[in-house]
Amino acid sequence: MMILSTILLSAATLQEPQQAEVRVADLKAHIGFLTSEELEGREAGKRGAHLAGSYIENQFRRLGLEPLGENGSYRLPFALRRDTAYNVVGILPGTDPELSKQYIAVGGHHDHAGLGSGMSGAMGFPYEIHNGADDNASGTSGVLELAEYYAAHPRKHSMIFMTFSAEERGLLGSKHLVQSGILPNDDILFMVNLDMIGRLTNDKLFIGGLGTAKELHDCLDSIFEASELDLELDDRGEAPSDNTSFFHAGIPAMFFFTNIHDDYHMPSDDAERINYVGEVKVLNLVQKVIAKLDDESSLTFRDHGGMGMPADFNSRMMEHYRNISKRKSMKGKLGVTAGDVVGNGLEIKSVREGSAADEAGMQGGDVLLAIDERNTVDIMALRRALAGGLKGNEIHIKVLRGETTMQLTAVLK
Ligand SMILES: [Zn+2]
Repeated sequence: MMILSTILLSAATLQEPQQAEVRVADLKAHIGFLTSEELEGREAGKRGAHLAGSYIENQFRRLGLEPLGENGSYRLPFALRRDTAYNVVGILPGTDPELSKQYIAVGGHHDHAGLGSGMSGAMGFPYEIHNGADDNASGTSGVLELAEYYAAHPRKHSMIFMTFSAEERGLLGSKHLVQSGILPNDDILFMVNLDMIGRLTNDKLFIGGLGTAKELHDCLDSIFEASELDLELDDRGEAPSDNTSFFHAGIPAMFFFTNIHDDYHMPSDDAERINYVGEVKVLNLVQKVIAKLDDESSLTFRDHGGMGMPADFNSRMMEHYRNISKRKSMKGKLGVTAGDVVGNGLEIKSVREGSAADEAGMQGGDVLLAIDERNTVDIMALRRALAGGLKGNEIHIKVLRGETTMQLTAVLK
């Protein structure tokens, strides 16, 4: 907890409050925190997602947004089987006496696939941390940056900023939020969903849901035509993401998405692969959309359903599944049976003949202290240390044999 509160503070102080522009440095700070090892992939209902929720709540409080929960809380709990998960919501009042009775809503989910053993759609091996930098630390950081921008530059309409949990479990957080009666659904002019906006490639951006209000094309097409981005526009109101929950509640909802990629739901969806400059471009376009629609006093909802996804989404997904099954067949094994915890390590009960451990010179009775400098203090730590290992990977093993500490090198098989 100590280390974590330091991280919370440093991320918050990286930005001057009331920053006027969406900035790469801020996106990096938010995504850096949300993808840190401590959060273990932010699985809904688990500690990592709670920490993400607290971080977002602290940001909303710092920006002076109004809480929607009880006792000044920005976090709104909902039941997730035996766990509790939290959506995070903050309100920013508008400046126009009439238009401020209605809301422009901006959201994205903050949960992800965790350690890969749960129900959140992880595609890596169990015990690998799925950091979810693009999915969806990118959208979460976008919500935070837009909240910061609009806190300094309020619009005529009031605004709702929100991050959802349990999106990866089937849009559960956003569904709960729109059905709970907590949100002023009837007074939401439109919703913008940011899910996976961190991988802009060749400036290609998908925007879905443009048929969910009669006026959207008339209002926005000139902005889209003038955009420097290569836009794929889609009218359909549904998607495998949270805009769907708002659409089903009769609220016009748009979906901003930079498409799937090789790291989708994989442990390799990491912060260093984010196109930060690209994400700023996406958010700048969202700002233009919001500025234009802020002048509207009403939008006419249209029940324009269907899965709105990029044209090449299915072929990309097929390719992705092929790569994943290839990787699954490459899972590397060390070949030891672990016994009890002994001091700072794990006793090795036996070493399988001909295994990677055997060839590295490990013996039954050794105490395994570390793999690649990660302490193997218990069986969970050992599983995590080996989780991402593929056949042919070289690992460095520290063992205690009698009184002697030894360094061994094994090649996983
Ligand atoms: Zn996802």
